This record gives sequence, C-alpha cells and structure tokens, in this order.
Amino acid sequence: MDLKSLIRDIPDFPKPGILFRDITTLLRDPEGLRYTIDFFAQQCIEKELIPDYIVGMESRGFIFGSPLAYKLGSGFIPARKKGKLPGAVHSIEYELEYGTDSLEVHQDALHPGSRVLIVDDLIATGGTAGATAKLVQKIGCDLVGFGFIIELRDLQGRKHLPDVPIISLIEY
Ligand code: 5GP
Repeated sequence: MDLKSLIRDIPDFPKPGILFRDITTLLRDPEGLRYTIDFFAQQCIEKELIPDYIVGMESRGFIFGSPLAYKLGSGFIPARKKGKLPGAVHSIEYELEYGTDSLEVHQDALHPGSRVLIVDDLIATGGTAGATAKLVQKIGCDLVGFGFIIELRDLQGRKHLPDVPIISLIEY
C-alpha cells in the first residue's frame, strides 16, 4: 500500500517555512490504519524487536504505540509532558528551538533491565526521541530500538540516537 499517499502535506505549519506531515489523514483511512499497524508489527518481528514495553511520546506516539504494543504482546508506557502524570515521575529536559521541554514517565513503570522500544509518529531532528532514550537509559532499561512511521532523512535525526535498530515505515 502507498502509505505516502495517505499523508497530507501542510505548508507553513506550525510556522512559516515548515512543511508539516499530517498523519490524521492516514489515521482516518480504515485500510491505511490497519496496514500501518500490521506493517509496523511485521517489521518489529522481522528485526526481533519484541520489547517488554513500548514507550510512546505525547501525543502522536500514543496513537501508534498502543496498537503496536497490543500486536507485539508488550505493555504500553506513555511519556507525557511535564505535570500530566499523577504519580511520582522520572523526568528529562531537552532543548527545543526556543527554550526547553520535558518528558516524564511514572517511576514504577520501568525498571533496570526492562526491554524498551521507543515509538513516535515522526523523527525530525531526533531531539524528542534522543531525550526519551536518555530517560529510559538513565533508569537502566535495555533500549532495544526505535520505531517511527515517518523519518525526515535530511534532518539526520538518527545521529542523535544511540546505536540500536531503527525502523521507519516512510521516508522523506
Ligand atoms: P524532533 O524532536 O525529532 O525534531 O521532532 C519530532 C517530534 O515533533 C515528534 O514528537 C513529532 O510528533 C513532532 N513533529 C515534528 N514535525 C512534525 C511533522 O511534520 N509532522 C508530525 N506529524 N509531527 C511532527
């Protein structure tokens, strides 16, 4: 299936000069959605990336990470923006173009040695995925890999990630 044809390009969002890859058009397509999750799971199985837990980043990482966890027989752990999780958290701060942001996971969600796959909809500069990897590794988890629906190759986000397998279903 031509997944790229289901991604909508929106120029100048969220600000002038940025071409936003909109995945909501893929999500609303029943066959496209099913194919995406099935293909994602198949890639993980082929690469033997079967984790104990998938960590998905707020908020589009939740949409793809949860059904992937279901298919792989893994648990799902949301990495949320600062102040959203009710229990005690581990946090990591990371640089944005202007300022900083934080991601948090519950302290009792992950343990040293847990096998983790990090999942998001898209990797651009790699800042978000790289910070999530640091958080997971700081806890002592075994980071087995990354999975993205979309990879923007020109931005070389992979350079900011540890040397583990990376799956991306669509590349620009
Ligand atoms: P990075 O940290 O790799 O520069 O940016 C990736 C993060 O920003 C991801 O969490 C992703 O959801 C979001 N993001 C950045 N650009 C886009 C885009 O064009 N489309 C979508 N769907 N998400 C984007």
